[in-house]
Amino acid sequence: MKKTPFVTLDQVKKITADIPTPFHLYDEAGIRRNARALKAAFSWNPGFREYFAVKATPNPYILQILKEEGCGCDCASYTELLMAEAVGNTGHDVMFSSNVTPEKDMRKAWEMGAYINLDDATHVEFLEAVCGGDMPETVCLRFNPGGSFSLGNTIMDMPRDAKYGMTEDQMAGAVNRLMKLGVKHFGIHAFLASNTTANDYYPELASQLFRLAVRLRNATGAHFSFINLSGGVGVDYRPEQPASNIAYIGEGVRKKYEEILKPQGMDDIAIFTELGRFMLAPYGHLVAKVLHQKHIYREYVGLDACAADLMRPAMYGAYHHITVLGKEDAILDHVYDVTGGLCENNDKFAIERSLPRIEIGDLLVIHDTGAHGYSMGYNYNGKLRSAEVLLKEDGSHQLIRRAEKPSDYFATFDFTDFKFGE
Ligand SMILES: *Cc1c(COP(=O)(O)O)cnc(C)c1O
Repeated sequence: MKKTPFVTLDQVKKITADIPTPFHLYDEAGIRRNARALKAAFSWNPGFREYFAVKATPNPYILQILKEEGCGCDCASYTELLMAEAVGNTGHDVMFSSNVTPEKDMRKAWEMGAYINLDDATHVEFLEAVCGGDMPETVCLRFNPGGSFSLGNTIMDMPRDAKYGMTEDQMAGAVNRLMKLGVKHFGIHAFLASNTTANDYYPELASQLFRLAVRLRNATGAHFSFINLSGGVGVDYRPEQPASNIAYIGEGVRKKYEEILKPQGMDDIAIFTELGRFMLAPYGHLVAKVLHQKHIYREYVGLDACAADLMRPAMYGAYHHITVLGKEDAILDHVYDVTGGLCENNDKFAIERSLPRIEIGDLLVIHDTGAHGYSMGYNYNGKLRSAEVLLKEDGSHQLIRRAEKPSDYFATFDFTDFKFGE
């Protein structure tokens, strides 16, 4: 589908009068609309809840909007837990899906009363030690089926190469030990394919996890209270790609639920999700300005944003669509490499991309940066991290994170041996 920005040149000019580029801009209306569509798609399941993967967009203003739409937080670290807590999410508003978990992080999750998702069978004893034997009533276990994960004839991913989760035998053993320690209810979690727009991913994953729940219940007698389908539902980064159809996905999971869990009398199981990308990616733009152009063996357009603001193209060769604001309908009769200013040749947002004729000072929108965008940023080359701005439902804008200043970059030299300029 044709990709159109959620802002116009005039709207962006109003923002840049106030906040200099580059910045990440988020679309409140889009975020809310999409969160409601997800909720509607799973409304057949009374216990359904989305736990937004905080790592995708760790900003309390975003978490607050999602909280208002009924979402909890999925956290994997101490600071992510602190952010969930800051927006008033505690107890079962929080899912703690970590791996290689430090003791301090595990203790914080336990103190908050979060759902704790154990990545490994040895974490049963780890959790017991951390909480001094005062175990949570409900514990979730992360599953790794090994082998390959396929949809039809297509291999989606290779769980056997993934560091996450535990085997089915280990799960059964963990459930038995946890029951002896007083745990009453169990959850099952797995994340088997990332960023997939195949609408059958969730239904197929659900079918595997539902069958697993039946086998584990039969083997241990344990009560399973939720199945966490985790993240992985993808977005259409490319214009020619189909978008995920969340209504179809929800209906697909419902059919598997009716087919597998209901006849087993296990239809009190709640469905949880931990989506990040699907919740936010399309509702974020990286807004940048053209600083320079150069004409050597290729045509280059240099932006005031760089891979420190959006790492996905440099790291994964990921495609992000680009729109030149004010030239939305112009013909794409020029071919450019669109770059940032890092001393790294992979700092390119687009390679040999067909775009309209670009001039210095033009404002560009890089699409689908609302998830795994700002959050993967870094400070290489002393680049300061950008601001985050919320485009509110009423059309006004709000700075929801200021840009870094030199003093932020130098802040961890917490000594008096050197003096830095501003
Ligand atoms: C990254 C992650 C998610 C979110 O993944 P998306 O691809 O953004 O949906 C959810 N759960 C866990 C455990 C993760 O690591």
